[in-house]
Amino acid sequence: MTEMLTDSFGRQITYLRLSVTDRCDLRCTYCMAESMTFLPRKELLTLEELGDVSEAFIARGVRKIRLTGGEPLVRRDVMTLVRRLGDHAKAGRLDEVTMTTNGTLLSKYAAEIADCGVKRINISLDSRDPEVFAKLSRRDVLPQVLTGIEAARQAGLKIKINMVALKGVNDHEVPEMMRWAHGQGMDLTLIEVMPMGSIDEDRFDQYLPLTATRDRLEEEFTLTDIADRTGGPARYSRVLETGGRLGLITPLTNNFCADCNRLRVTCTGQIYMCLGQSDHVDLREALRGENPEQDLNVALDRAMLRKPEKHDFEITSGSAPAVSRHMSVTGG
Ligand code: SAM
Ligand code: SF4
Repeated sequence: MTEMLTDSFGRQITYLRLSVTDRCDLRCTYCMAESMTFLPRKELLTLEELGDVSEAFIARGVRKIRLTGGEPLVRRDVMTLVRRLGDHAKAGRLDEVTMTTNGTLLSKYAAEIADCGVKRINISLDSRDPEVFAKLSRRDVLPQVLTGIEAARQAGLKIKINMVALKGVNDHEVPEMMRWAHGQGMDLTLIEVMPMGSIDEDRFDQYLPLTATRDRLEEEFTLTDIADRTGGPARYSRVLETGGRLGLITPLTNNFCADCNRLRVTCTGQIYMCLGQSDHVDLREALRGENPEQDLNVALDRAMLRKPEKHDFEITSGSAPAVSRHMSVTGG
């Protein structure tokens, strides 16, 4: 039997985040610049190769796979990959297949996603104010996203709303976003902005420590920390007044690297061992060589030896991003 993926700090890797494209139909200001150069299509792994990579991880003990991007649903024929992974989940070889999406294409795909065996998805929604949404995402498509969220609910998918909290931009909307999400039976997770890739503004101006947001929420709501985990970095509280769950992802004010169980693979087949570091291991050559099964395992072992203990994200005024690649390359 092939060995489980365990790094040199004794952490077992059971969770793969797989970016299927670096492209996106939005241009969120904290994530991308308005004008982005995307990878040439010929450099991407095919959907079949992405399936093969996923299976190499499953054979080494990965139990959860999240498809991400860029926007995963803009990749043509992506549902063939969702279905292939969903079949592993249906057969018990995976605990879960899931996705992070901006919701713009959910009206078209939600029912099929559910049919493939996906039970829960994360949908990013930073504002329910059409003007703020358009400014933040640089696209005026809030109604389309809200219809997509409704389609996902109708399809029976459990939904977690992800909201990147940005100082002076959408922070005033947090209480209302929470009431709305919880009122519809959806979790809400707030995320601190991370210094990844060049954008058109200074992230220091956007950065809002979530410790401050939590303090402010506690003036209005009763939050009780709960032990629930969904396999990722979010830490949850139960909100007495709404009955819902609030998650906080706080890589800057509080890093949770000690129990990191994740690896990330890009759409060109690079494994990134840490979101906040640049070191990576190539899988594409292994995949396309003479002996893919053996070579993929060698590459995975190499990645395990090189997985760092922790990220060293820091945001200061005018400083360069901690890593030069955008979040959309490795996905969230
Ligand atoms: N396009 C999809 C979406 O927006 O849900 C999936 C990819 S997106 C990169 C995944 C998540 O990362 C989203 O929730 C997004 O808000 C978040 N994100 C993007 N750039 C970020 C940054 N610099 N810091 C923190 N979160 C970021
Ligand atoms: Fe696209 Fe998601 Fe980045 Fe927004 S956060 S630009 S939706 S990849």
